[in-house]
Amino acid sequence: MHYLIRLDDITPYMSKEKFEAVQAILDKYRVRPIIGLVPDCRDDSIHGGTNARRDDSIQCPLQEHGDGREYSDGEYKLLLHELIEKGWTVAQHGTYHVYETKESGLLGINPFSEYAGLPYEAQYEKLKHGKDMLKDLGIEPALFMAPGHTFDENTLKALKALGFTAITDGLYPKPYIREDILFVPCTLVAYDKLKGLDTICLHPNLMNDKDMADLESFLKDHCNEALSYNHESLHQDAVNYGPFTAMAEKSALKARQRRDRIAHSMRLSNFMVCTDHPNSAIKWAKRIIMSPLLLSKRYDDIK
Ligand SMILES: [Zn+2]
Repeated sequence: MHYLIRLDDITPYMSKEKFEAVQAILDKYRVRPIIGLVPDCRDDSIHGGTNARRDDSIQCPLQEHGDGREYSDGEYKLLLHELIEKGWTVAQHGTYHVYETKESGLLGINPFSEYAGLPYEAQYEKLKHGKDMLKDLGIEPALFMAPGHTFDENTLKALKALGFTAITDGLYPKPYIREDILFVPCTLVAYDKLKGLDTICLHPNLMNDKDMADLESFLKDHCNEALSYNHESLHQDAVNYGPFTAMAEKSALKARQRRDRIAHSMRLSNFMVCTDHPNSAIKWAKRIIMSPLLLSKRYDDIK
């Protein structure tokens, strides 16, 4: 297993305190992540100050810039260049980070998108605006990170026309090439479910003390398996996207949806916790014997 780390929602509005805490952990284990910069952030739900967001679908577009800024223009630019200097990789994370459509795009992970479903020209112009904003900071990333993991065929075409060569997304455990764009897997599974090559997707603004401790304890045991972004070597390992990859992605998406459903069902998840056992024969015997209890409310209030 090898993995990359990506930090989403990097803006001058992100929580300085949380970003610095994540940075200190990554530096300690010499891990160099991908950082997703939102070029012209209009989404105040990803402000560091408003720490309430738990759901990507809840958004309050910004009316004007200014308030909530944790870094001045100069500080932000300096920070980014320092990070690039020490080997961190920059990706363009959308343009405004505001979801305009209810399309789930090519991967089907979320039913909302900043790009998917919009005409090619609109997508091209929006992406170009973001790219130009980053150019003003002296940064020209070739890697793209779609807000909500949503994009469609036209997004890929526009990205290619704008000189992007890769996307940090894909539900297949190996990098693949689709429409001349390299997809670097990001299957959004928990630390203990990583396999093949994957990307751990972190949102520093949303990380609490436990999330920071979990990251640190994972890196303590696995920092040797961390990769920093290297386009050439990932490209070399990539397969071509085809019917087999498409099928594998579909089943990964189904597994993800199943996991989500389980996580959202408190009764079922409490039942799973109460019937868990290290010996899988005993675990399944417990589950079969106790399954009638799933019909009662007994498991609703445990935990
Ligand atoms: Zn984001």
